[in-house]
Amino acid sequence: MKRLGAPEPVIVAKPGHPISRRDIDPDALKILFRLYQHGFTAYLTGGAVRDLLLGKPAKDFDIVTDARPGQIKKRFANAYVIGRRFRLAHVHFSGGKIIEVSTFRRAAENAEEQSPEGESVPANPYGTPGEDAFRRDITINALFYDVITDTVIDYVEGLKDLARRIVRVIGNPAEKFMEDPVRIWRVLRHSARLGFTIEEATEKAIPSHVHLLCACSGARLYEEFNKDLAYETRPVIEALRKYGILGRILGKAGENYENDAGLFSRLSSLLEIEDRARTAGHQLSLEEMYALIFWPWLGPLLAENRVDLHKNLSDAFSNAGMRMSLPRSVRANIIQILVIVRAMDRALRTGRMRWSLLRRAHYQQASRLFFLIFKERPADKEESFTKLLEQAFPSGLKRWKRRRRRPRDHF
Ligand code: ATP
Ligand code: MG
Repeated sequence: MKRLGAPEPVIVAKPGHPISRRDIDPDALKILFRLYQHGFTAYLTGGAVRDLLLGKPAKDFDIVTDARPGQIKKRFANAYVIGRRFRLAHVHFSGGKIIEVSTFRRAAENAEEQSPEGESVPANPYGTPGEDAFRRDITINALFYDVITDTVIDYVEGLKDLARRIVRVIGNPAEKFMEDPVRIWRVLRHSARLGFTIEEATEKAIPSHVHLLCACSGARLYEEFNKDLAYETRPVIEALRKYGILGRILGKAGENYENDAGLFSRLSSLLEIEDRARTAGHQLSLEEMYALIFWPWLGPLLAENRVDLHKNLSDAFSNAGMRMSLPRSVRANIIQILVIVRAMDRALRTGRMRWSLLRRAHYQQASRLFFLIFKERPADKEESFTKLLEQAFPSGLKRWKRRRRRPRDHF
């Protein structure tokens, strides 16, 4: 890729921007101030600056600095250097909080510097703040906030794009997508979540490069998918479908969602229910989210009677040809959750249920999912699946116990 020069940045001081130190995580502030005290430059960057400029609370606080990973580690007892391709520091805080501190980087200059997975790996990866801004994905993600001078620093016209509500790749979109195809996904994610328009040249380059996503490692695709499941999932999944990415990532599951509008509309409604529930504080776990994603796809299999459901679902996953690597344990848990949700539905309709279901390890997770799928809302504090069952079959408890002794009910 042609090396992009770093022009003078636009620097905006108060009251030209709305960011207040009070909006910044105190641990992130500690890191920023400590780095300055040791003579380094350090900025807040990425999604935090973008979201704070939009007047939204920030989700995570990424820091960028001219201190090298080893220098960061030396100054923070709670810092760990991670990453094989790009080394960066993770600073750990109580409650499992981790703040990522990376060193200003530059983009790769030629093909020899490309890693097999597509992302560029320069021999000397470090660069200036300007170079770091230009190697980022989209303009609205490449802004810096300097807590010392209380200024926003913009090398890439990100402020203009924020004001115009535009998602624009920094530099040449085709080159940026070839360098790292996951950026296509990131463009779609951010435009879908923010409701921003994708800039014309960026949008034009997407269809001819989506196939490159197939070359990404399954582990990286899984990591990216997890980000989509963490918040505001529906708009992103809809965008992935629109550009034919669901099928490339999720194999047959994704292809079914792309080819069958009715099936996808069921998924879309479920995600909308969960997005709403999440805003009200009911966040599903990652495994519950995956179970929700696969529920409509696996519907026909789940409807079958007298079959070994665990085996059938397991075979469906094995034969789907997913490029995303779903870890074995996650897949096993998704299957357990789905099988219990299905048994719950049956129990409520027929009054028949294996008593041991209530003691299953995934019962609580399944119960949460059951409410979202069948009641189209999360459960209230006092509600549980057991209570639903008691209400539906007030004299039913004894019957379940007796039925327990009957030959195995397959569910
Ligand atoms: P979110 O709000 O979802 O955390 P984010 O923009 O902060 O969004 P992260 O995945 O946390 O996303 O990445 C932090 C920053 O790192 C991004 O804002 C962007 O500047 C840069 N970045 C991340 N992935 C890439 C990539 N593949 N190519 C270039 N820059 C990237
Ligand atoms: Mg982030």
